[in-house]
Amino acid sequence: MKRFRRLLFNVITAVSLLLSVAVAGLWVRSYWIYDVVGFPLVKPQHFATLSEARGGVQLTVNVGDSNEPVHQFGIESHSLNELESILPQSTTTHMMLHPPFFAWYYFDGSHSGIKMRFYMFNLPHWLFLTFFALWLVFPVQQWSRLRRYVRLNRCLTCGYDLRATPDRCPECGTVPQKM
Ligand SMILES: [Zn+2]
Repeated sequence: MKRFRRLLFNVITAVSLLLSVAVAGLWVRSYWIYDVVGFPLVKPQHFATLSEARGGVQLTVNVGDSNEPVHQFGIESHSLNELESILPQSTTTHMMLHPPFFAWYYFDGSHSGIKMRFYMFNLPHWLFLTFFALWLVFPVQQWSRLRRYVRLNRCLTCGYDLRATPDRCPECGTVPQKM
């Protein structure tokens, strides 16, 4: 059981580290590149997209009855400069390219000549990064405590001072491994 807990702890630490690095990378990338992934929903005209631009992540759910969905399933990437010059200077474009920290919108109207109705939720990258990085606080604390115990010649299990009894911890019975 203890071994399983240890394994679980290590897996959570590794996954959090991986996700933190990935989010940090995407965050930096989002200032140059606009990425969008499309997912078809139940009705063929309905679709959802997950996109990111300038430090914001947007989930958009399109519920309009347009026969010409802007995004089918797939990934698209555009440079922000390119996108800004192509897209009309509408509020929708502005929302996508200059996302605020926290927001949600409901849009019902015409965009690039296509009738659209959608919900958009925007969350900042730093929120995701904070969430994943929080899982790393405890392992980092634990690691620095162990390093301190090794340096001060203390029992790694309970922290008892082992300078007088280097062969066995009198407090918890742990036999220190010789390095
Ligand atoms: Zn001990």
